[in-house]
Amino acid sequence: MPSLLACDEPKPFHVIQPASVGRWVITCDHASNRIPRALGRLGLPDAEIARHIGWDIGAAAVTQGLAARLNAWAILQNYSRLVIDCNRHPGTPTSIPVRSENTDIPGNVGISPEHAAQRRTEIFDPYHAAIAAELDTRARAGRATLFVALHSFTPVYDGAARAMHAAVLYNRDVRLARALFHRLAAEPGLIVADNEPYRVTDESDYGVPVHCERRGLPYVEFEIRQDLIAQAEGQAAWIDRLASLLPLAACDIGF
Ligand SMILES: [Zn+2]
Repeated sequence: MPSLLACDEPKPFHVIQPASVGRWVITCDHASNRIPRALGRLGLPDAEIARHIGWDIGAAAVTQGLAARLNAWAILQNYSRLVIDCNRHPGTPTSIPVRSENTDIPGNVGISPEHAAQRRTEIFDPYHAAIAAELDTRARAGRATLFVALHSFTPVYDGAARAMHAAVLYNRDVRLARALFHRLAAEPGLIVADNEPYRVTDESDYGVPVHCERRGLPYVEFEIRQDLIAQAEGQAAWIDRLASLLPLAACDIGF
């Protein structure tokens, strides 16, 4: 079978500040809406790939800016969640979705086990191997690590408007998420949701349960509403806010 990614296409992931010795690791699972050429746009018009079902609008820019401010090791996934979702367990129905919100994904219907495996081995596995390798290196060196899984959510889902500006999400380990929630809740005019509109579970999520909870790393899965970070001005405001509040939240829990 020919490679999924052509030699002139980007690698499956991009690491920001690979030599960082800071405490923070930031992942952006849904940074890009790029589709490998070999998949022919998955049968979708460009307008569908450009909207939130294709990626987390604004999240890559916030990750890059925040990584610079926190001296973080950060990683961006370079391909669309519609190709293979890097925050889902491979083999589950939402890993290679045949429908997202109200859009059918023709290029994902009836794909063979070999083609599904290829998306995993060429995109999902290298991305998560890079994260695991970085966390292994830090653990061997005895370095403390705080983990941020950065996402963005659509302001309107299935016709319902969402009032919250941002959300902290977590599973078993509430330490960093709760501390950040309290710090954000003190910001005037900000509406922050606590484990809504989604929550982290072992079944629905991959990054946090696998990379953080199995290692006992403090983490927060953080979501920002997309209309607030679609442009540079809003991105800069959220980078500023998180660059000041994340270290305070870390301090609150003894890091
Ligand atoms: Zn996301």
